[in-house]
Amino acid sequence: MTNRGYDWLAKSLTTIHKANWYRSVTAYEGKAGTIVSCGDAELINFASNNYLGLAGSDRLITAAVEATKKYGTGSTGSRLLTGHRIIHQQLEAKLASLKGTEDALVFSSGYLANLGVITAIVGEKDLIVADEYNHSSLKQGAKLSRAKVYNYSHNNILELAQYLYQERHKHRRCLIITDTVFSMDGDLCQLPQLVNLAETYDAMLLVDEAHATGVIGKTGAGCVEYFNCRGKEIIQVGTLSKALGSLGGYVAGSSILIDFLRNRAATWIYTTGLSPGDTAAALAAIEIITTEPGIRESLWQNVTYLNNQLTKHSLNCLPTQSPIICLPCSNPQQALQIAAKLREAGILAPAIRPPTVPTSRIRFSVMATHKQEHLDRLVHICTMIID
Ligand SMILES: *Cc1c(COP(=O)(O)O)cnc(C)c1O
Repeated sequence: MTNRGYDWLAKSLTTIHKANWYRSVTAYEGKAGTIVSCGDAELINFASNNYLGLAGSDRLITAAVEATKKYGTGSTGSRLLTGHRIIHQQLEAKLASLKGTEDALVFSSGYLANLGVITAIVGEKDLIVADEYNHSSLKQGAKLSRAKVYNYSHNNILELAQYLYQERHKHRRCLIITDTVFSMDGDLCQLPQLVNLAETYDAMLLVDEAHATGVIGKTGAGCVEYFNCRGKEIIQVGTLSKALGSLGGYVAGSSILIDFLRNRAATWIYTTGLSPGDTAAALAAIEIITTEPGIRESLWQNVTYLNNQLTKHSLNCLPTQSPIICLPCSNPQQALQIAAKLREAGILAPAIRPPTVPTSRIRFSVMATHKQEHLDRLVHICTMIID
């Protein structure tokens, strides 16, 4: 007997192909860095979240190796059972100190941190108001929580205020959710206005600092620091896997919030603790971020230089306040063609297409370790292939 129950898969894939939405993986060789090799090709890497170049650094590698030798490869259980190590506690204390909060909690990924936190703090009787451009993990978290969700137009504070005015009183708790650096555009949320609205409407505010941690703010603490909102009651979520060069996620906030999450966040309770290697690497990364501001300064020098060069050559990018720089394309096909031409010319930068974003674009991520010749090469190639 044949089972036709899976026939829809092939059909569905065909539709994805037809829309130019199809994606597949490529294996890159060697250590994470500004140059990556793939088969015979050596490519300048503008596709990585490794903003400070820490993922390939000897210090993080050594930290991970030493912790692995000391504790083993796996943490062997959930944190509430046998999976808790002193280095988890040290990492959480260091994160709290970086973020200026009372406490912090680390998760297996940023994605799981968002799912866990959102589903723990709101439910069916509650209201979520969220930026339409939020990361997938925030959207999925909102959906899973079964709260009533309203998405306001990107960065439209008036629309957010209107939703709060009309809907807040109908619900028990309220949660405002936003990325701080929007990951596919590179612009920032308007944090001070969000804080004010949250206070006015007795709403909780959850911000995702995934692309801001280590990158933005005087000490690299993120947008909460940059906008002088430290000390406000904000739930700060983020990842250990971008500028921090490791793997894992975190939430930082009041001790009462963190204590509650240790009791209620299912994606933290029912999963294995972060591996010793990842934990130690993240710990080493925060140490570097807080004591060596020069790395972040190099990153911002590169961002400014690249933005200036692109503008000088009339390559008009989307507005950005981060190391994420996007070149708009008319459609998915054009984005794919440009990405392919860049690749032929030795530049790795992804075409970002629907459904990830509403409109297609090429996305460049600048790193602290890019050399000026890398940035010049990018601009030169862009002027050659884009008219
Ligand atoms: C990357 C990212 C995440 C997910 O973090 P992981 O640790 O990779 O799971 C969550 N939110 C935003 C805004 C991100 O950019």
